[in-house]
Amino acid sequence: MTTPTRAARTTRPVVAVVGAGIAGLAAAWELASETADGPPVDVVVLEAAGRPGGKLRSVDLDGRRVDLAADAFLARRPEATELCRELGLGDELVAPGQSGASVLARGRLRQLPGGLHLGIPTRFGPLVRSGMFSPAELVRAALDVVVPRARAHPVLGDAAVGSLVGDRLGRAVVDRLVGPLLGGINAGDPDQLSAAATVPVLLAAASQTGSLMRRLREAGTRASARPSELGPAEPPQGGAPPPVFWSLRSSTASLAEAVDGALATRGATRHVDSAVERLERVGDRWRLHLAPGSPAGDHVDADGVVLAVPAGPAASLLRPHVPAAAELLEGVEYASVTVVTLAIPEASVPGSLAGTGFLVPRNEHVGGRPALVTGCTYLSLKWPHLRRHGELLVRASTGRAGDDRPADLDDDELAAAVSAELAEILGTGPLAPDALVTRWVDALPQYRPGHLLRVARVEEAVGKLPALAVAGAAYRGVGVPACVGSGRAAARSVREAVASRPEPGSG
Ligand SMILES: Cc1cc2nc3c(=O)[nH]c(=O)nc-3n(C[C@H](O)[C@H](O)[C@H](O)COP(=O)(O)OP(=O)(O)OC[C@H]3O[C@@H](n4cnc5c(N)ncnc54)[C@H](O)[C@@H]3O)c2cc1C
Repeated sequence: MTTPTRAARTTRPVVAVVGAGIAGLAAAWELASETADGPPVDVVVLEAAGRPGGKLRSVDLDGRRVDLAADAFLARRPEATELCRELGLGDELVAPGQSGASVLARGRLRQLPGGLHLGIPTRFGPLVRSGMFSPAELVRAALDVVVPRARAHPVLGDAAVGSLVGDRLGRAVVDRLVGPLLGGINAGDPDQLSAAATVPVLLAAASQTGSLMRRLREAGTRASARPSELGPAEPPQGGAPPPVFWSLRSSTASLAEAVDGALATRGATRHVDSAVERLERVGDRWRLHLAPGSPAGDHVDADGVVLAVPAGPAASLLRPHVPAAAELLEGVEYASVTVVTLAIPEASVPGSLAGTGFLVPRNEHVGGRPALVTGCTYLSLKWPHLRRHGELLVRASTGRAGDDRPADLDDDELAAAVSAELAEILGTGPLAPDALVTRWVDALPQYRPGHLLRVARVEEAVGKLPALAVAGAAYRGVGVPACVGSGRAAARSVREAVASRPEPGSG
């Protein structure tokens, strides 16, 4: 009698990946790769939408592929760059042609001060020189330096970024620096963002005595060796600094297309228009019930499942099996963002624009009204391969946690409002509201204080189910590299669980 071993299996286990965003695609890529520590598995990717990629999407504009959401990924976190290299896209990686950004503060664009750690100042001098703060606001920030706390408040577990920074450096620093910079990544509100999940170093720094700026400066030096969702505040000193961000010449979204294409060559089955409506447990296997009309039929049977969908759909699918985890997932809120892409005649822009774009704090007004625009990327300056003579291609973002005004405007109204605000901010004459409007509804998960505990509990509950793991932006990082990393880690754990089982029917 032969003992069933990995080599002795006669049928390949099937692993289903639900969701073909970058997390699901990375999971499928990991599963489809030949490895020494696990048998090859048959991979089936099931995607609800009509195309793979999820939040990665681009459009052709006059022969250029222009990203409609993520246009860059962090270079210091290795996962996305490694994936590009594995796919043979190393030569396609492009670095931004400009660096730095501005903030609309006290009525005009001002360059971000140096010495920021994820938007939090670590030095006082650059704050003074930035012109972003009134004398009274600077005095308030300086209290951190001149009146170091005798006793710090130990932060137990987690707290909101806004309260930790505001307590030490004053409200203006939160509103004009921390909010726009952190919000530029996840459209979040600093008063409701978990420090543990978004700026972990702040928790330790705020618990210590002495100046917060100094503690962050010290921690920043140590942390520069570790990968972070948001990357370093400033490039390392000495020598040519490596780029902080990468994109691909054919757009950041082309990473998803490349993974999808490579999966086809590795024999993975991929189905679009195939929403998974229900997960049924059959012994230690799974039956995935599909929405009517799926080209994959009415169900798919699998030995293991990677669930790489946003928190809401994950909660619905998991509810019958782990109701408490489903409830925790339901509690993850999402912010909607609408981006407006438009070409501005270069000649209409007075002077030269600095950096890759600008951010707009929540309480700034433009044209006498609260600004709709939350930030703007100068796409054709940031990415020289997008440049066309005489034209500045820009992408403005609108909407964020707590501000859903764009949902009340139709595309034409929003394009007109954004064009008018950009004209005012950039000092151009009136701009034609001829723009491409892309709505990302409930797109960015908001990591509230306690988020990491929530995620740990979900993972613990899900870990007790047979060969099932969750992945994606809802959990431990919204950036593309974090999503790639979470997809691959989920795939490894499911492959291991599947590999450790005896072959069905082997007794
Ligand atoms: C406007 C915008 C700008 C951004 N900019 C950047 C940036 O510059 N850099 C960066 O690193 N990150 C950026 N991000 C964040 C990043 O792009 C996303 O967090 C990431 O792409 C999410 O990947 P994901 O695979 O976790 O989820 P998603 O991309 O949401 O993929 C999940 C997939 O699951 C599918 N699905 C849902 N339910 C089901 C079901 N029941 N059955 C089957 N399929 C289902 C969905 O259709 C979707 O395709 C940005 C995001 C947005 C919205």
